[in-house]
Amino acid sequence: MSPVMSSGAQADELRDAVQADMPGLMELYRDLHAHPELSFEEVRTAAKLAARMRELGFEVTEKVGRTGVVAVMANGPGPVVMLRADMDGLPVVEQTGLPYASTQTATPASGVTTGVMHACGHDTHMAGWIGAARQLAARKDEWSGTLVMIGQPAEEVGLGALAMLEDGLYTRFPKPDFALSFHDAAQFPAGTIGYSPGFALANVDSVDITVPGVGGHGAYPHTARDPIVLASAIVMKLQTLVSRESSPLDPAVVTVGSFHSGAKHNIISDEAKLQLTVRSYGDDSRKLLLDGIARIARGEAIAAGMPEDRMPTVTVEDPYTPATYNDPDFTETVMAGFRDRFGDDRVMQVPSVMGGEDFGQFRRADPDDVESLIFWIGGVPQERMEAAARGEAELVSLHSPYWAPDAEKVIATGAEALAAAALRLMPVSGG
Ligand SMILES: [Zn+2]
Ligand SMILES: [Zn+2]
Repeated sequence: MSPVMSSGAQADELRDAVQADMPGLMELYRDLHAHPELSFEEVRTAAKLAARMRELGFEVTEKVGRTGVVAVMANGPGPVVMLRADMDGLPVVEQTGLPYASTQTATPASGVTTGVMHACGHDTHMAGWIGAARQLAARKDEWSGTLVMIGQPAEEVGLGALAMLEDGLYTRFPKPDFALSFHDAAQFPAGTIGYSPGFALANVDSVDITVPGVGGHGAYPHTARDPIVLASAIVMKLQTLVSRESSPLDPAVVTVGSFHSGAKHNIISDEAKLQLTVRSYGDDSRKLLLDGIARIARGEAIAAGMPEDRMPTVTVEDPYTPATYNDPDFTETVMAGFRDRFGDDRVMQVPSVMGGEDFGQFRRADPDDVESLIFWIGGVPQERMEAAARGEAELVSLHSPYWAPDAEKVIATGAEALAAAALRLMPVSGG
């Protein structure tokens, strides 16, 4: 039998096994979907995952990085492969109308009670991850190495991966040679796989600028220093960072998402506050943008005649979410396997995005030793995709209260893809 035929036969067997598992995985999915929890509050969720992994024979440690789960299966010599699922939901009031829609509420730090929803599809990630674990635990004679499966908290606030790393993910547990994860996607047909070699998701920086002024009467502007005019000049000048300072070949975004100042028509305020999101890929372009923001804020204040002791203050939130980088060779290795298994029409290279994902932390913690890849699994139901193509429906985005992926296809594809990738990365050595 040729190697090609042999891998094809194995493909069918794994796919059949995942399909046979789907009723149980869908039950888990519906349960997780109905009971979402906010970032770092994934207590029920983590307990569910930990119990399932223990049943499968993994050595499970809970509360890693507050609510994270680490499940290890050592199975002979070979590489360490880490598979990650994120666990948190979002403060969104679900409006999908699904029979298992979430009716959960929570009161986050803001103090405002809100609905909670798996509006980013992390429930599909967890179900697919459990599906992969079941396949890998059932065929330990087909791979050799160490499998580390992690349930990561708090992806939505960009802090969970770092929390797990700071709690000893790479010192208390085997450090991965390869780290893999998938995310559902709201723009691709259900069951397709999308990937971007190199930078896949962006550095995300949140920046606050406080612009002092000198308050006064609106009818006597010459006796005041108007922070609204100054902050407006800063906003306009910031537009030149991407258009005139960044390389046109290097993607960058500077968005002023919030501008607050003043209380009344005829009072010149004494302060304006700006909130920015700043996106980039490389460390150098990130530095160029952040340095430029500080320089522009100060420069405009000087131009407005502000005294040295009333310069704007620029604060960059720490920690930030670093860009997610897919090692190109590793990506190609995994995707070659996916193309064999799923066919060229289900596996496609797609453009990178300026969204963020803290999965990038796992490679960044040790870029010389850890290769990583995150890929997309399309979640848009076929009929919705077709209606959108006819102009009869709009596609909703992730985080929408209406996001209802074709969970069955996402989970089946995710389970099969993660298991297949792990099998390929941890072959039984022929000696
Ligand atoms: Zn999200
Ligand atoms: Zn997400």
